[in-house]
Amino acid sequence: MDFLKNLGIENSNPGTSTGQNFLGEDHSEEIMSQTPIDGSEIASVTITSRAEYDEVVEKAQDAFKEWRMVPAPERGEIVRQIGLELRAHKEDLGKLVSYEMGKIYQEGLGEVQEMIDICDFAVGLSRQLYGKTMQSERPKHRMYEQWHPLGICGIISAFNFPVAVYSWNAMIAAVCGDVMIWKGSEKTPLCGVAVQKIIAKVLKRNGISEGVFNLITGGREVGEWMAEDERIPLISATGSIRMGKEVAKTVGARLGKTILELGGNNAIIISEHSDLEMAIRATVFGSVGTCGQRCTSTRRLIVHESVFDELKERLVKLYDGINIGNPLDEDTLVGPMIDEDAVDNMNAALKEVQEAGGELVYGGETVDKAGLEGGHYVKPAIVIAQNDYEIVQEETFAPILYLIKYSDLDEAIAMHNGVKQGLSSSMFTLNMREAETFLSSRGSDCGIANINVGTSGAEIGGAFGGEKETGGGRESGSDAWKAYMRRQTNTINWGDEMPLAQGIEFDV
Ligand code: NAD
Repeated sequence: MDFLKNLGIENSNPGTSTGQNFLGEDHSEEIMSQTPIDGSEIASVTITSRAEYDEVVEKAQDAFKEWRMVPAPERGEIVRQIGLELRAHKEDLGKLVSYEMGKIYQEGLGEVQEMIDICDFAVGLSRQLYGKTMQSERPKHRMYEQWHPLGICGIISAFNFPVAVYSWNAMIAAVCGDVMIWKGSEKTPLCGVAVQKIIAKVLKRNGISEGVFNLITGGREVGEWMAEDERIPLISATGSIRMGKEVAKTVGARLGKTILELGGNNAIIISEHSDLEMAIRATVFGSVGTCGQRCTSTRRLIVHESVFDELKERLVKLYDGINIGNPLDEDTLVGPMIDEDAVDNMNAALKEVQEAGGELVYGGETVDKAGLEGGHYVKPAIVIAQNDYEIVQEETFAPILYLIKYSDLDEAIAMHNGVKQGLSSSMFTLNMREAETFLSSRGSDCGIANINVGTSGAEIGGAFGGEKETGGGRESGSDAWKAYMRRQTNTINWGDEMPLAQGIEFDV
């Protein structure tokens, strides 16, 4: 396992909870990371104790006092160097993502590439944190707005994107002048340690305080400390809708800020005017990629009745040829699910949809792979269903694709929007009127809406996130940076009179 060694994860315990040689007093609890490939143990990581947590927060507070005074383009220079360090570790980190999370190596590499790309984006952004200048209604007055950093940005992330989601937040927040406290998923703790070690090298080389990027480890309880903590003005949380509702309530009660990136129930509408070849390629990647464990995975396929049967048959054929197995093998397209619970959830959903009247047309079985007995392999499933089945209304984080028939576009859009989530959406059509309807205000109600592009796999240049129970947060590109800063409106009187706004006369 050279990649573990190259990332500094050599022994049975790869380090401490911060990955920065932070030694707390209470290391009684540990998380043992296991690969979903065959269930074998990789290494253990200590869980951050409450006392360590408080120390980390204090360290971050101190670091913020210095970091906010570093000019933004110089902060960008640090992020540029992090991007270079990630390039140097791309293969090793990509492999670790694949080994610890179970996505195929190509997708592991893609995740690290996203980290590199967001670094580049953030470097440019560091010279473009623009505020507006406004025309004052008073003579000899100048009015403008500027953006200041918030302080500590608390980042809680999910298992399925164990490194990229952190960087979408952290690299943007870093050029904005914030400092980070990151709690990754307890299911992928080593990815966090590896990223922390990569960043720590750059900080050390440049004499920047370690407290700018902090890592803590643990599960729900550690996340709850962050949500409750008034010292953390912003919590960016990625994960399930259940988690998002809890975090929103806790942070809201102290009037803190949140960026919530929660579950999706993403659909593709396939029209009778679509290029079926393209639609099928996008559907297969969207539904089976990452073994259905992406927030943007395609869960529902809303298909025009005239192409429904043909599409179903072609999908079944393609699904049957998919290579399921070790995600580190080059010819594997679908790796394992993260754990036994995930397989149980998939089985329960398949049972429920069939009880509701759905027809399982392909897959759903667990797959035993010789030599990988401790892994969690399943055959992706295709089910003919109705949109209003309770289970179809939910996000099951597994490779289940529901096929739903429609006859006219209004009906298709109503079904498409007729779920509580609103993350990613797509329509395949070559008909301009249909495409524009789907993108219009009476079309898709999601944060991401595509034409002839699937639901899965967004580019970092756009703002990423969704509406309704997906949480409303936006991360990554466009002007998502504004959520990591506070806006200040400034008015300067450079005259020798004291006129009041709104024309008020107040003689004293
Ligand atoms: P999860 O909600 O179980 O856990 C996510 C993170 O939240 C973990 O770090 C966990 O420890 C923490 N957590 C759990 N309960 C908490 C609480 N009450 N307070 C504070 N922290 C808490 O999610 P998961 O199983 O790791 O990930 C899968 C889910 O994440 C899916 O629903 C998926 O759609 C969603 N997701 C969304 C996006 C997005 O950008 N919209 C991206 C990736 C994943």
